Amino acid sequence: MGFSMKIVVVCLASILWDIAIYAQDATEIHRSAIVFDAHNDVLYQSVMRGKDIGKRMNTGHTDLPRIKEGGIDVQVFAVWCNEKYGKGTAFAQANAQIDGLMKVIREYPDDIALATDVARIRQIIEQEKIAAVIGVEGGHMIEDRIDYLDSLFRRGARYLTLTWNNSVDWATSATDETRNPSKLRHKGLNDFGRQVVHRMNDLGMMVDLSHVGRQTFFDVMETTSKPVLVSHSNAYALMAHARNLHDDQIKAVAENGGVICLNFYSGFLDPAHYGKINRLYEKHVAATDSVKRSSSAKYNLLPPAAKEQLRPSLSLLFDHIDYMVKLAGIDHVGIGSDFDGITSTPKGLDDCRDFPKITAGLLQRGYSEVDIRKILGENMLRLMEAQEE
Ligand SMILES: [Zn+2]
Repeated sequence: MGFSMKIVVVCLASILWDIAIYAQDATEIHRSAIVFDAHNDVLYQSVMRGKDIGKRMNTGHTDLPRIKEGGIDVQVFAVWCNEKYGKGTAFAQANAQIDGLMKVIREYPDDIALATDVARIRQIIEQEKIAAVIGVEGGHMIEDRIDYLDSLFRRGARYLTLTWNNSVDWATSATDETRNPSKLRHKGLNDFGRQVVHRMNDLGMMVDLSHVGRQTFFDVMETTSKPVLVSHSNAYALMAHARNLHDDQIKAVAENGGVICLNFYSGFLDPAHYGKINRLYEKHVAATDSVKRSSSAKYNLLPPAAKEQLRPSLSLLFDHIDYMVKLAGIDHVGIGSDFDGITSTPKGLDDCRDFPKITAGLLQRGYSEVDIRKILGENMLRLMEAQEE
């Protein structure tokens, strides 16, 4: 072997060694860290459709075996229904979904248990089970009644996302504030909305500001006495979508002591996402389809190979994390995958099992072990504890 060949071999060996060390470190950090995913829609997506998530499935992003394989210790199960549910039906639907989760817990007591506070979360993790936390997504599910809010808290719900895409009488959503402002009778929180926030503060229930409009967001900031949650949203500066947070909102959450959890959805990460859908739709579908369609309808019509092409690089997620950390500080960032609530994810993030890639990516971006632990879960535990005070 010539001298220069030797150098190449030595360099290669050292690169491979570095990669191996990274992989080993990442696995070890991921295994020993508390990993908290602040948002997952498997209840609506699978449990309410009669699927048994206690067993491995070949559909969707989530089931208990895959949660375990991904090293997720604390899983928020979102209780969600759309705006077609309203007075007389939405609260019942929320309860039916909590019943669904409780059935899973009864059937798989060795795999999962309900957690309503941080002490219990730690106990459950100690027993090597998944700690299930309930988050209710959409203020319409309390049907304008404080007693319904109390009831959901008693059943275990530890956050309420004040609105989903639909506004409620007492709080306006990001979708409505940006797309249909003229249709709104009021903007932001009204008196009852402030009562809801005060009551949540008293109960020790996190106020979740994903999906709410800017006016509602800043009204809550003036009202809440506790740190807030943004359970599944990204940075508007990197992807201008109404569901993402502007710089002033990111800074406000940091000042309030809250936590913003990053969403894995391609459509909230990649500024090219909707343009790419249009181009792929034109190329593969438009000739045989003359109906005017929304982006999501166009997406659904794409052939699988085109859907695959649409997925952005995983590095985009780390760009959003870096951006948030720079603006808000390391203590205010977490993860809220939105698995089973989203259609497209970055390459390599196929389902729950890919959570270790978050840890590996953060390590590669130069985050220290202490900082990685904060993003993975410690920040969310601190936020939950702050509600209990
Ligand atoms: Zn959502």
